[in-house]
Amino acid sequence: MNKEKKIALKGLTLSELEEYFLSINQPKFRAHQVFNWMYNHLSFDFADMRNISKELRNNLAETCFLQTLNLVNTQNSASTETKKYLFETHDGKKIESVLIPEKDRNTLCISTQVGCPLDCKFCATGLMGYKRNLSVGEVVDQYLLTAKGAGKEKITNIVYMGMGEPFLNFETTLKSIEIFTHELTKGLSRTRITVSTAGIPNKIKELMESPFRVKLAFSLHSPFEEVRNRIMPINKKYSLHENLTVLKTYAQKTRTRITFEYTMLKDLNDRDIDVKELTRICSKLPCKINLIPFNSIKHMSPAGISAELEPTPINSIYKFADKLRNNNITVMIRETQGDDIAAACGQLASVFA
Ligand code: SAH
Repeated sequence: MNKEKKIALKGLTLSELEEYFLSINQPKFRAHQVFNWMYNHLSFDFADMRNISKELRNNLAETCFLQTLNLVNTQNSASTETKKYLFETHDGKKIESVLIPEKDRNTLCISTQVGCPLDCKFCATGLMGYKRNLSVGEVVDQYLLTAKGAGKEKITNIVYMGMGEPFLNFETTLKSIEIFTHELTKGLSRTRITVSTAGIPNKIKELMESPFRVKLAFSLHSPFEEVRNRIMPINKKYSLHENLTVLKTYAQKTRTRITFEYTMLKDLNDRDIDVKELTRICSKLPCKINLIPFNSIKHMSPAGISAELEPTPINSIYKFADKLRNNNITVMIRETQGDDIAAACGQLASVFA
């Protein structure tokens, strides 16, 4: 049987796996066993599954498969511990994940789409365009393959900040969170998972009403509608105002703070009026601001407004942060990690294959 006809077990939630085993006349607890092998023992081979009869293992190997991605390249940053992983899908698409080891945590940044349709003017993934959504198995395998390879550096946090817009692949994002946080997966609690969005208000609401209320990061980048319209075309469809209203409810209902991601662009969003307007916005909901130095996207040969964007110098970023802190706002400055291997925010575009 060729792989196209085989069933992808990787990426099935526990209840979907139970359904599958019932459909092949097996007891429900087989699903627990296989779930445990896939997501806890990081098994990619039915032969490992020793608590299942050899006959069933052979049958499963005939009709199903466990690995949805191939790791084709790993790059280590020379200046930091950051590692970039390049994976290939069954249809030859390339996607990237980034592992960022820090003092007290190891964060894996994962992708949800091949490319991205949002076309944010400062983002390399946006410039490469949109190819397709990833499957649940492909999202989960980024974690499982990295965790297997990472050895003793246990992954402690996951951020959905790689390629793509997680809320445009919503079901998949939700199912992958369900798997990562399931009590049978000795994995991650909801507070160690962050989903980042450019702002799809109805999906923020749906997440809020689901059992998977992870932490939320919102790509703000400007407190002004007209500036956001220019650099993030999605703002013309879903305005900042509409997003802020939903985010406020999300923060209140989940008792978490929203993280505002803010890539610093010279003369565009680093002015005193930006400090003033950001202060006004931040006074309305529990939040913190993460200032991100703008990482170059020159390797994508950008045109139009993308070609004109310049980074705010680091000293001006410090001053901008101080002004906000003087207004009692929590501000962090994200260290640029892995820019020497194009693994930093917004640089992911599968160009190193
Ligand atoms: N689509 C989601 C997930 C991407 S997360 C979102 O927009 O939130 C990646 C983060 O890095 C986002 O905040 C994004 O706006 C930011 N980013 C994109 N390009 C960047 C660049 N060149 N330099 C710094 N940050 C960038």
